[in-house]
Amino acid sequence: MSEHLFYQTRQTRPFIERSEGIYLWDADRNRYIDGSSGAMVSNIGHSHPHVLAAMQSQMQKATFAYRLHFQSEIVEQFAARLAKKAPLGLDKVFFVSGGSEAVETAIKLARQAALARGDDKRFKMMSRLPSYHGSTLGAVAVTGTPPFADPFAPMMKAMPKVRAPLHYLDGLDPNDPATAAHYLKDIEDQILAEGPETLLAFLVEPIGGASTGALVPPAGYMEGLRALCDQYGLLLIYDEVMTGGGRTGTYFAAEHFDAVPDMIVSAKGLGGGYMPLGAVISRNDLVEDVLDHGGFLHGFTNAAMPLAAAAGMGVLDVIEDEQLCARATRLGDTLFARLKELQARYPFIGDVRGKGLLLAFELMADAQTKQVLPKELHAHSKLVDIAYQNGLIIYSRRTRNGAEGDHFMVCPPLITSTAQVDELVGLLDKSLG
Ligand code: PMP
Repeated sequence: MSEHLFYQTRQTRPFIERSEGIYLWDADRNRYIDGSSGAMVSNIGHSHPHVLAAMQSQMQKATFAYRLHFQSEIVEQFAARLAKKAPLGLDKVFFVSGGSEAVETAIKLARQAALARGDDKRFKMMSRLPSYHGSTLGAVAVTGTPPFADPFAPMMKAMPKVRAPLHYLDGLDPNDPATAAHYLKDIEDQILAEGPETLLAFLVEPIGGASTGALVPPAGYMEGLRALCDQYGLLLIYDEVMTGGGRTGTYFAAEHFDAVPDMIVSAKGLGGGYMPLGAVISRNDLVEDVLDHGGFLHGFTNAAMPLAAAAGMGVLDVIEDEQLCARATRLGDTLFARLKELQARYPFIGDVRGKGLLLAFELMADAQTKQVLPKELHAHSKLVDIAYQNGLIIYSRRTRNGAEGDHFMVCPPLITSTAQVDELVGLLDKSLG
């Protein structure tokens, strides 16, 4: 623990000195592979010269101009480019500084859109267990990780959660339509129990992030969820904080499904680690309704600053110019196959899953029965510590409540080369050994 900072983890971590591409160096010149892009943030790698130049150029013009005092050409351009990445009909962009702020923005926009329609009964957000949506109080209220929420219970109203698809635990076939139907029935029952007329929106990670360990929903699940939301009058909001920015092989994971959301929440890879950046991209009519009824009661001082937009534009250039979405698919297939090879050699790897370069593996006591390792083993932190010693950084979670298990996100930057995948897998192999 540092003398003056109190945000650090319990474990001792090295001091960062320099970072470039997929590597980071500590103050003692030890080199680490960024095996999880920080926390699935550095999608285009570190210190990319194009982004640094774009930021430098903007810095010489204007870094900050308060958005109530000035408009900004580069912020407008960035919004237009981002809207193009979202599904048709989602054209209105609200910039913020990160994922939690973006989740707050989506919740408040959903509520104000309902009020603008004259509906003051809908106030509950529905989300899944397990899930993670951020650490501000509103985002915690919708986060399906009870230990993060319980201590704050008197200060906020926890929102209803439904069980997320855990087909790898339930032993159901993810490709069998009956599997999605099974989970959707759970959701519908809960919608009815809560009272559909009280529900504002369903917030969901289209492909699970750290809370589930890259869990891809069973076939037909997102489409069925869209149909349920339409039937009962809920908005559908995709939390693409982790899945966005090309990580799953398309710019937004929404493209993988035949189910268009009403809003997308974005962050992490949007700024790529170059600037704190988040956004909500919303259906036009929702925003227009809110603006026509007294305006959106929301805003953050540092949001939409020109320097952040320049960084975000630079990141988008790199994703497009270097065709990183296609690369995430190609490299993801390679890395997935390599993780499967490790699974064949290490029986305690119970599952390998994910899409594109949003990949994870899970350690289990028994892969056949999907029995998790005892908590007391602290496997999730032990393997991370060993990997550190070997020069590899991976992100782990022991998700509590709803999906107990030690899983590890293997999500290197999308610019990783095939040779670097070999290097990463080699270090992981050594660490597992
Ligand atoms: N939603 C998801 C899916 C996330 O993974 C995260 C961060 N891990 C957040 C929201 C919150 O983002 P931030 O930490 O930038 O506030």
